[in-house]
Amino acid sequence: MDLKSREAYQKMIEEAYTKIPETGYKQVTTRFNPPTVRIFYQGKNKTVILNFGEITEYLNRDPNILRKFLTLELAAPASPSNDRLILHTRVDDITLQNTINYFIKRYVKCPVCGGYDTKLEKVRRNLMLKCEICGAESPVPPIK
Ligand SMILES: [Zn+2]
Repeated sequence: MDLKSREAYQKMIEEAYTKIPETGYKQVTTRFNPPTVRIFYQGKNKTVILNFGEITEYLNRDPNILRKFLTLELAAPASPSNDRLILHTRVDDITLQNTINYFIKRYVKCPVCGGYDTKLEKVRRNLMLKCEICGAESPVPPIK
């Protein structure tokens, strides 16, 4: 590339950058900040997640998948109740938050680019994490 065309190229790049709308930058830098789990205890052996619906909505995940995951990880049955989830065990909020964070790390966060704009899809009998940002498709362990 000679000097003249290099200058022209540089100019073209600079112009292109100035034309990117402000919102384009905002989307890229959007922070991933899921709601903190809020609970209360019902009787001795039940833990109710008050904002279960809010969390699954934020994560863009089927509430059933997170329910099954919690059931497995906490080794306790869980029943949905509107936007809440009733866990049939007593679990403190830190343990619960850590378990949800673990779910996010495994089933929400893209292992390739680290983005959170993903979808969970069943492909044949496998569970795949599809990234909307980089396009990666990563197999994830099944939740039975
Ligand atoms: Zn990605």
